[in-house]
Amino acid sequence: MQAPNLYDSDTIPAEALAEIERMFSNGDLFRYTSQSSPVALLEQEFAAMIGSKYALAVSSCSAALFLSLKALDLPRDARVLIPAFTFAAVPSAVLHADCLPVLVEVGTDYRIDMADFEAKLTQGADAILISHMRGHTSDMDAILKRARALNIPVVEDAAHSLGTTWHEQNIGTLGQIGCFSFQSYKMINAGEGGIMVSDDPDLMARAVIMSGAYEHNWKKHTMLQGAFQKWQNRLPLYNTRLSNLSAAVIRPQLPVLAHRVQKGRAGHDHIAEQLDDIRCISVPTPLPPEVRAPDSIQFNLIDLSDQQVQAFVESAASDGIQVQVFGTTKDNARAFWNWQFLAETPDLPRTRAMLMRACDVRLPTRLSRAELGYIAESLRRAAAVAMRKQAA
Ligand SMILES: *Cc1c(COP(=O)(O)O)cnc(C)c1O
Repeated sequence: MQAPNLYDSDTIPAEALAEIERMFSNGDLFRYTSQSSPVALLEQEFAAMIGSKYALAVSSCSAALFLSLKALDLPRDARVLIPAFTFAAVPSAVLHADCLPVLVEVGTDYRIDMADFEAKLTQGADAILISHMRGHTSDMDAILKRARALNIPVVEDAAHSLGTTWHEQNIGTLGQIGCFSFQSYKMINAGEGGIMVSDDPDLMARAVIMSGAYEHNWKKHTMLQGAFQKWQNRLPLYNTRLSNLSAAVIRPQLPVLAHRVQKGRAGHDHIAEQLDDIRCISVPTPLPPEVRAPDSIQFNLIDLSDQQVQAFVESAASDGIQVQVFGTTKDNARAFWNWQFLAETPDLPRTRAMLMRACDVRLPTRLSRAELGYIAESLRRAAAVAMRKQAA
């Protein structure tokens, strides 16, 4: 059997093409040509699907994170707590919003270390940006409880968590604002794109204007009418709007999301089960309130030397299976020491140790059982190769 390509996406539903042809016939690619444009409809449909009052579609999740922090109206140099295990776009969005990212340790379960979270809160925090990295949900009950007690806003970076639930509530709807991505390696693929959701009309009105609803274009956000008057002409316009073309690609994927989520979870759990008896592999389990929506698997290599980790990766690669160890692949954008654009690189020994042993394998939801079996077999072989190296 040939190795499955782990970087191919799902196909785009055919309805998208029909809608794009319709738009080509009239040229209406700008979202504000109509209040029922594809982008406006996407916002209504997404908000209803996820269980939020309002949604604003933008050019990327990074843009959504940036606008979220701007919409919160944080003072310059506000301290924003973020997990130290996240994508470089997250500290970047914090810097872009003129705030200071404060990195919090992350444990071997890829979730925020609550003791360090408490310590960093004590040192002072103005906002909390929780990145559910690779869809692993941190302890949101504890985080929200502390945030409420201290009256600090929580933004959820749910870029990679679309379809994940926490106590049966959608991730991204737990904090004041939730942000999602439609970049190709996420559950819904439009190449690029993002969306933010919130129940707070005033906050969303600010985000809408700053995203580029210049003059009276905000009138086309029919859900939000009342909130805009007081912000007219008072906010900068960052122009992070989404094109109708992208919305046309995204909308027909919303109805198939539940199926992808279910398939992704089944595929992930199938592989996790196959790896369960391997001594040097540990797959962290979800927290009890969490039902995951994975399109990849992460696991830790236990009691292996650097050379053995290398042997593991090389063995899988020789089968055509790409395993990325976050901390050892060169210039990895998820290793905090590579974020040299930060004023200083903090010392975070727990996160560093985790990243040096945490493996990442993409599992697109379209994979068949046979393809999943191939991947599991390859990882099993790689583990055997790595452990034999120890004996030698
Ligand atoms: C993909 C991703 C982002 C960035 O999303 P873009 O839409 O590419 O800007 C941010 N955070 C996490 C956790 C991601 O997985």
